Amino acid sequence: MARYRGPLCKLCRREGDKLFLKGNRCYTEKCSIERRNYAPGQHGQNRGKLSDYGLQLREKQKVRRIYGVMENQFRIYFKKASRMKGITGEVLLQLLERRLDTVVFRMGFTSNRRESRLLVKHRHFLVNGKTVDIPSYLLNPGDVVEVAEDSKKLGIIHESLSIAQHRGFPQWLEVDIEALRGKFLRVPTRDEIQLPVQEQLIVELYSK
Ligand code: SF4
Repeated sequence: MARYRGPLCKLCRREGDKLFLKGNRCYTEKCSIERRNYAPGQHGQNRGKLSDYGLQLREKQKVRRIYGVMENQFRIYFKKASRMKGITGEVLLQLLERRLDTVVFRMGFTSNRRESRLLVKHRHFLVNGKTVDIPSYLLNPGDVVEVAEDSKKLGIIHESLSIAQHRGFPQWLEVDIEALRGKFLRVPTRDEIQLPVQEQLIVELYSK
């Protein structure tokens, strides 16, 4: 599937918000948003007032970029969310949080979702004892994610875990650092998914 391969910080500057796409760098003063919080390009510093449609579009792009999902796939998530019980915008975020690449990242095995996707595709993770190499694989409560036996010595995983350990893990996950294993305990509530997004704007955009 096609994927954005350009500079990640540019995406944050376009949205005017930290999207935490790069891992540890995002928490330092090297973050581009800390240094140049204006849109990229020649006219980036003349950001005008956005129309309602513009605001809705930007919110959708922001969420797509945070989770690294392309437009078509994002629409599929939205359709699925709108057919499920609950508030569509919240269900949409909950679906995205159930993706294997996001869970691997939240469990601290990688420092960002892009890295997660790569490691998942390279078959470094098992779900309930079986190799899963599909980053969009949706987890259910009770599913166990673990690092494959041959990948347990990968430095990148240990480095990420030691940093993640200091920040702490989300409450809907249980992580066993020694065993390089984690459990997806439950789907997070909207309050727990601490993202600076107004998902209702995405619902309005797609409801036109
Ligand atoms: Fe975004 Fe991280 Fe780059 Fe900052 S360092 S602009 S948060 S990707």
